[in-house]
Amino acid sequence: MNKKLLTFLFVFIAFCLFFAEEYFRLNSNVVLKILTPTMFQIDLNGNRKPDDNETICLPDVTSYTSNIKADVTELAFKNKLPEKDLIALGYLAEDFASKTLLDKEVKVNFTGENTSQCRLANINVNGKDYREILTQNGFAIKNNIPQNQEAFSQQLEKAKGLDIVILNHRNNKYHSPDCKYAKAARDTVTLLRRQLPYNAMPCKVCLGENTGSDDDTILKPVPTISGAGDIQIYLTDFTNRLKPDTSCISNICQTIVKNIDETSETIDMAIYGWESVPAVENSLSKAKERGVTIRLVTDTKIPQDKHYPDSEKITALADEYRTDFNPESKLLTNYLMHNKFMIFDGKKVLTGSMNFSRTGLSGFNANSIVIINSVHIAELYKKEFEEMLSGKFHTNKQPSEYNKNIQLCTSIVSVYFSPQDKAISREIVPLINKAEKYIYIPTFVLTHQGMADALINAKKRGVDVKIIIDGTSSTQLHTKHHTLRTAGVPVKVENYAGKMHMKTMIIDDKYTILGSMNFSNSGENRNDENMLLIEDKNFAEFYKDYFNYIWVKIPDKYLKTDIRAESPDSIGSCSDGVDNDHDGKIDNLDDGCKP
Ligand SMILES: [Zn+2]
Repeated sequence: MNKKLLTFLFVFIAFCLFFAEEYFRLNSNVVLKILTPTMFQIDLNGNRKPDDNETICLPDVTSYTSNIKADVTELAFKNKLPEKDLIALGYLAEDFASKTLLDKEVKVNFTGENTSQCRLANINVNGKDYREILTQNGFAIKNNIPQNQEAFSQQLEKAKGLDIVILNHRNNKYHSPDCKYAKAARDTVTLLRRQLPYNAMPCKVCLGENTGSDDDTILKPVPTISGAGDIQIYLTDFTNRLKPDTSCISNICQTIVKNIDETSETIDMAIYGWESVPAVENSLSKAKERGVTIRLVTDTKIPQDKHYPDSEKITALADEYRTDFNPESKLLTNYLMHNKFMIFDGKKVLTGSMNFSRTGLSGFNANSIVIINSVHIAELYKKEFEEMLSGKFHTNKQPSEYNKNIQLCTSIVSVYFSPQDKAISREIVPLINKAEKYIYIPTFVLTHQGMADALINAKKRGVDVKIIIDGTSSTQLHTKHHTLRTAGVPVKVENYAGKMHMKTMIIDDKYTILGSMNFSNSGENRNDENMLLIEDKNFAEFYKDYFNYIWVKIPDKYLKTDIRAESPDSIGSCSDGVDNDHDGKIDNLDDGCKP
């Protein structure tokens, strides 16, 4: 074959491949986000992220909106409908659009025209024209007239039955959808009443004085403290604390102070970092004054970390102090000393997922801690603590011994430290493989491949697997929740301002796993971490109730879509004074919160 022909063939094949790919791309684009029932972000370039030129609107047709700021005067007038009903219709229409389009592959046929906000295109899903689907279901409007009167009437009846309220993030008050105070508020979210924070207050003007906390349509919170004797557990309900502070009113903070106050000889603390909460600091100072020895281990990076600005205050209180700085290994120095535990008088251990910060101690984040009265378990933690205090961190530590199946009054407890004990591969994955009824996981992250694979297999053999992950961390590069969702495992991304910061797994009314270790490769193989496996029926049932309560509060649409952690979708995030998505901008300065 001559050279020219070869070159031609090569170019021709490349050409074909290019067009095949273009064709494929143009014809199967995934819907990433529903902005309104007729406006979406569609992944045209296949990078799974919404880009600037990927906002698409249907031509000539609109729908309803739950946004109380939208001007619906004419629509209300022409159809003789109260605004309240239109907002409820908006809620239904948005939900319908999510169910029909979100995460689905669609065909996009551009009309060639653009508006200032979007490119106009018709959408085809499962071989059907989306606009036609919208019309058939009563959600399409043209010139303020519903396009299918019969279907519209049915949806209107449904909408009237919804219990819609408007929550003002700033003062935690909720309103009827047509309340002028709701409209005047800058920072609101449209919710079903049962999704409200339990402590939200009804607006007296529009809702009267009798719809407060005794209203059973607001989901009643479940107990957050359980256990007695030698093991107690404390959980924080982040759906109820929409702003962090330094008040120490959470059950977790109060219990930490109480335990410090009861200590007479030693407090050993292995903590990731320190942000001042005066009640805890005062309690530690008093302990020191009465002669208690305080020993401390933290991560190296803490003095520079803006989230933990008060490390000097805690190191000043410590009689002995060490970080995981390793002069011979930058790598080991960069691994995290991620524990959050305290040992009181060498016989009681407090441990869990909570960091010593405003967002942790105030109960703004969802965390779990346990307190264990057991000399045996305290000794295991003390050995680990003293290894770190002597300068052995991360891969330089010794594997644990006598750490399994420790019998307490009503529980059997095993203790694992990272990275030496390889808790995910050796303990968590086998437990997942043995699960029979359910596995519920409230967690900050899930990036561990082996764990994700085991969960998918569990789901396939009929185990009820449910996962709640944090909104901020759902954008992480290695997150496995997309893979899990694709394999049919229900994963909800939480939509509250505080972080879902637990690292917990509950199995079959039998096992509860919790601690500082994230379900990640770093958590298992690099960082200093601790994890508890607790075999106790009451414990597991208690935690299961909490999980189900949070699960119900998070709308089903977050089974499919992820969330901007700092946006009106994330309840409270635009008024909490926190940089929820770590982009350096807070509340109304953040693009996600701008109206
Ligand atoms: Zn009101």
